[in-house]
Amino acid sequence: MRKFHGEKLVVATHNEGKLEEVRALFANKSVKILSSKSLDLPEPKETEDTFIGNARIKAHSASKITNLPALADDSGITIDALNGSPGVYTADWAETPAGRDFFVAMEKTYRALEEKSAPYPRKAQFRCTLVLAWPDGHDEVFEGTLDGQVVWPPRGLDGHGYDPIFQPEGYSITCGEMSFEDKNRISHRSVAFKKLARACFD
Ligand code: IMP
Repeated sequence: MRKFHGEKLVVATHNEGKLEEVRALFANKSVKILSSKSLDLPEPKETEDTFIGNARIKAHSASKITNLPALADDSGITIDALNGSPGVYTADWAETPAGRDFFVAMEKTYRALEEKSAPYPRKAQFRCTLVLAWPDGHDEVFEGTLDGQVVWPPRGLDGHGYDPIFQPEGYSITCGEMSFEDKNRISHRSVAFKKLARACFD
């Protein structure tokens, strides 16, 4: 397992919601976070059909261009009754001619479940794969999962993406109704992040 020894880390995401969560997770670490948006890095095409494959593409691309270690996340929601869909295509379900709209994605999800008359609880998982890549091509991979169920209608305006229709196991509120801090305590991203922090930053 390779340790991180640098001062700067590129977080390879153009997604503001994810960036904000990653920044909060690094709050007590002495590392300067640079975002791929602020560095104006290109967004590579996510051509793989696994979370790990796509996270590797993003992390290695950012690391090679900047000559700095780079952290990328590929994440999404997998739904049991939809055989794991939308999975790696989670963001694609939000695509509209006017850009990404997660209310469109949430409605699509609900309709797919209704078409199948999926039984309740409609079990689902938020999944996150983190890849920390170095310019020499080495990488370390960490995974995290948050179990829950899909609910309808959407509840809560906090959070991002599918948060308003995802109710974590053991909770009666959705991720969209949780405070930023509460969600960060249990999220798939924080589970993966804790593994990364223990392995590479301690
Ligand atoms: P990608 O990793 O950029 O391919 O996008 C994954 C998509 O999954 C994001 O656009 C989000 O909509 C969704 N997603 C990932 N993590 C979360 C989360 O914590 N809450 C809600 N949606 C999420």
